This record gives sequence, structure tokens and C-alpha cells, in this order.
Amino acid sequence: MIIDGMADRPLEEFGFKTPLEAAKTPNMDKLVENGICGIMDPIMPGVRAGSDTSHISILGYDPYEVYTGRGPFEAAGVGVDVLEGDIAFRCNFSTANDEGIITDRRAGRIREKTEELTHTINSMEIDGAQVIFKESTGHRAVLVLRGDGLSDKVSAADPKHNEKKWTQVKPLDQTPEAQKTADILNQVVERSYEILKDHPLNQERIANGENPANIILPRGAGAVPHVQTFSDKYGLKAACIAETGLIKGIGKITGMDIIDIEGATGGVDTNLDNIAQGILDAAKKDYDFLLINVDGADEAGHDGNATEKLEFIERADQVVGKLMDLEDVYFILTADHSTPISVMDHTGDPVPLIINGPGIRVDDVKIYNERTAAKGGLCRIRGSDVMNILMDLMNKSTKFGA
Ligand code: ZN
Ligand code: ZN
Repeated sequence: MIIDGMADRPLEEFGFKTPLEAAKTPNMDKLVENGICGIMDPIMPGVRAGSDTSHISILGYDPYEVYTGRGPFEAAGVGVDVLEGDIAFRCNFSTANDEGIITDRRAGRIREKTEELTHTINSMEIDGAQVIFKESTGHRAVLVLRGDGLSDKVSAADPKHNEKKWTQVKPLDQTPEAQKTADILNQVVERSYEILKDHPLNQERIANGENPANIILPRGAGAVPHVQTFSDKYGLKAACIAETGLIKGIGKITGMDIIDIEGATGGVDTNLDNIAQGILDAAKKDYDFLLINVDGADEAGHDGNATEKLEFIERADQVVGKLMDLEDVYFILTADHSTPISVMDHTGDPVPLIINGPGIRVDDVKIYNERTAAKGGLCRIRGSDVMNILMDLMNKSTKFGA
């Protein structure tokens, strides 16, 4: 179970405690009393991990090999069946005028009915490439290009600021594949405006004084990597219970079953009761491994809201409490990176980690936080060590040597 961005740095307003140190977490502490603790560098000491690269590393894959950009994981996370070699992009629905000037990159933060716009783009084929397009949450969407001779070495169409013309996509190397992909993308952007500008939904939005979602702007190109499935790699049947498309995408690309939870928002307002119930239900099925991610602490960290972060950790502790009676289970509780309130972004500080389960060499740590965990029996490990340690504890690893 990964509490996204939970780890932090000492805060003056908490008497130089971290939010996790200041929070009341009786259930996590109970887990620690019968477990073994350590701290973990998700990738390497000091490397500022993204949520995606950290999860990839913790699952035992090399992020420097597997991670080609955010696009493929976002696309998989919203349910596109991506194939190796597909080129995937994140997109915004934006508002453009007839001169191609982007007047609102987020199309009035459109929240509803973007699926009505989606199929008009999704049916396109350009220069032999299949255009797969799907809406995500809010003004977000994903674009996947499938076909021969494509490349992810292309620039973004998103100008990053309002009141600028959308940026012509350019090849980032000299290959014909990059040139072809850039040409296709420019056509996708142009055609999206032609198709969407008079769409009934946009006429309705204009009549209501809202900005129309009349152009799509791709960015963040990535080629869908070859990834060995989790079950092939470890012989474990796995499921993923996550809130954000990014983490669901990692589950999907590694071949895990994705379990959707009603009311899971990815924010501090998420329905943690439903998430706890979803975990308990999944534990009753024939899964060997569950990847669980709750995102609220990271959101509060990015917002710089210490109180919200502390309160979310306390509520996540209640979820931990509901899982403690599961029998014959190894329970690993950690974070994927630090998201310190003082930085409002991820940092490379190590995160606390606890393993609880049968046959553990219980250490002397009694409470769970960044500083106490550093005194535990696991000492300091890397994300890429986690699956090895787990497989060994489960007596499922193969012997190296005679
Ligand atoms: Zn994260
Ligand atoms: Zn984050």
C-alpha cells in the first residue's frame, strides 16, 4: 500500500515534526510493533521520483528502461488497450480562435460530456496511422497513434500559455519517422478544430457564456514500451486499486487487473471507506498481490496544505486499521516519494517503509514515521529491492547459485 507523497520534511508549524510525525496513526504504529522497518530511496538516493517512475521501480522494473514518458501510462489508465510501439500523448481540450490563438488551454475547465466530442476524433485515420482518442477527467484526454513508421521524438502542440498560437509540432531528430509523426499530429490538431468548432456541445457552451472545447493539443509523447507482465515476472496474480489514471496505467501495462472504486477521486475528499472495502473484497479473491495507491497526501503536499496532509494521513491510518486482520498476508506500507509541504513538489528524500507478516524479524521500532523507520532492521533500501525482499519472504524466489 502506497500512500502517495506521504513523506515530508520537518515543519516549523508542527514543532519541527513532519505531518506523519505529527499525525495520530495508532494503526500504522501497531503494524510497526510486529514488523520490520526501514527507509527507501524509490529510485536512488537523492533522485526526485515521479509517481510513475517510483511505482515502476518498486514493482521491480527499471524505470530508465521502461519509462518513455507519461503518455503511454495515462492512455492505458483511461482504458486504451495500448500495444507495444504505439505512440501515446497526453492532451488538453482547449479553446482556440480562427487564427489558431489558444485563448484558454483548459477550455473553461470543462467537466462534462467530453465523451461526446471524443468519437468525432477517434474515428480518424491519417497517412495510414490509426488515431485513437479518449477523454480522461476534466479537460484532459489521451491520443494514441498506431501504425508503421512512427516515432515519439516529436515536440508538443501545446503552447503552455494562453494567448499564444498553438505550436506546430516538429520532429526532434532527423528520422523520416519523426517527420511523419509530426505531420500527422499537426493534421490531428488542425482537423480537431475543424470538427469541434461547430459541434453542438460547443455551440451550447458558447450560448452559456462558456469557453468551447474546440481544439485538442497533444504533448508528452512516449512510445509504448515492451514490458514483461507482472505475472510472468513473478508468477503472482496481481490487481491494482488506484485512484489516478497514471497509476492505473502502470497496473494495466504490467498486466494487472484494475479494480475501480466508486467515489475514489484522487484527492483529500476521496472515499476511503469504499477503498478499504474494495481492498478487503479483492483480498478474498484469488489474487497473490495487490498494488494499492491513495493519492490525497500528495495532493495536499502539492497544495502546500500541512493540515490537510496531516488529516489525510490520519484517515489513511483508519484504512490500515481495517486491513490489519487479514491473515497470512505480507503488508508493506510505504510512500512513493516525499512531497514536502515546504517544496510543494516531489523531492528525493527517502521514505519510510514497513513490512509486517509471518516470519518477520521484528525490530525495535515502535512508531511509524520518517525518522523512526530509519532505525529499523531493513536499514536503507531501494525501490528495486522491495519485490526481491517480498518474494524471498514468501519463499517464492529462486536460488542464485548452488
Ligand atoms: Zn506519487
Ligand atoms: Zn505528486
